[in-house]
Amino acid sequence: MNPIQMVDLESQYLRIKPEVDAAIQHVLDSTAFIQGFPVREFEQQLSQYVGSKFVVSCGNGTDALLVSLMALEIGPGDEVVTVPFTFVASVEAIALLGAKPVFVDVSEDTFTMDASLLESAISPKTKAIIPVHLYGQCADMEPILDIAKRHNIKVIEDACQAIGTPYVFSDGATGKAGAMGDVGCLSFFPSKNLGCYGDGGAMMTDDEALAERLRAICRHGSEVKYHHDYVGVNSRLDTLQAAVLQVKLRHLEEYVAKRRAAADYYFESLKEVSWLQLPDIKNNTHHTFHQFTVKVKNGKRDGLKQYLSEKRIPSMIYYPVPVHLQPAYGSLDCQEGDFPVSERLCNEVLSLPMHTELSEDQLQYICETIVNCPL
Ligand SMILES: *Cc1c(COP(=O)(O)O)cnc(C)c1O
Repeated sequence: MNPIQMVDLESQYLRIKPEVDAAIQHVLDSTAFIQGFPVREFEQQLSQYVGSKFVVSCGNGTDALLVSLMALEIGPGDEVVTVPFTFVASVEAIALLGAKPVFVDVSEDTFTMDASLLESAISPKTKAIIPVHLYGQCADMEPILDIAKRHNIKVIEDACQAIGTPYVFSDGATGKAGAMGDVGCLSFFPSKNLGCYGDGGAMMTDDEALAERLRAICRHGSEVKYHHDYVGVNSRLDTLQAAVLQVKLRHLEEYVAKRRAAADYYFESLKEVSWLQLPDIKNNTHHTFHQFTVKVKNGKRDGLKQYLSEKRIPSMIYYPVPVHLQPAYGSLDCQEGDFPVSERLCNEVLSLPMHTELSEDQLQYICETIVNCPL
């Protein structure tokens, strides 16, 4: 059995090496390193995949969030509602613009925004809501979109971990993560479900005027070179990364199927372990398993992590500290106890190895080790 890794980018690359190498060579031959042809072509292919009319690529997922907020003219005096149980970037982008992050706790079952708490976090200053589709599972978008519409607030989806995850509305219509709100943000960080070989990101929207604004802000606020309409940033997907992403997008369905197969194996083999709570997939909020994250009950999380590590099984804690208790966000004056579910999850969650290259013998070994854990 090969050593088990959290993410195995090397084996994945070796399977598609001829395609990737040819695509990279093609860019090298063209020397169109900035905004070369593959960038626009990838944006169009991605827009078809996610079902969004416009895709604007950028330098990374954090910039996607930042530029989305900039395009919606969010700044000092505004409030943006999001969750404290997320990667810090979801909150950082708000704070960088001088707006105030306002938190809503997450649901105990799905780890995403608890929509029943959302209304009470909204004030006359609220300009936007950023739901996070954590670990690959869609946040419960229908009530979030309803509340946003009623209050005339924008919705920016942090879909960095959930490219393409379906969500089913009560009328049977299906949306995809990042293509349901006003703007959706994606990251192509190497370990993401669609990852490039460096940094990359994108924004998705159905609003043409907004798409143009997003694109301009990424280019120093300029639609015509050297004429600047807005204060912008420099944030671009580079051509080499776009070329890699074009190849990997062709394989994305197969990658998602492999993640689902690994998840199915975990579900089947771990369902009897009484001290574990496995991911809770609802009829509406689907999952593409960026992570397979379990909740370890009875204070056994750190013990299990240690035990697995002794058995050469890596695992990770995403995330050990909720954003509202991070020193960087101390000025928001949040206290321990303010968001109890998020705080508890930080002590209970454990992400198991999850990637496209997990073999059956590896999965069997991981599950047997957990089932036989003496804790
Ligand atoms: C990865 C990630 C980001 C940021 O993406 P980068 O490309 O690393 O900047 C933002 N939000 C969430 C939830 C993420 O997982």
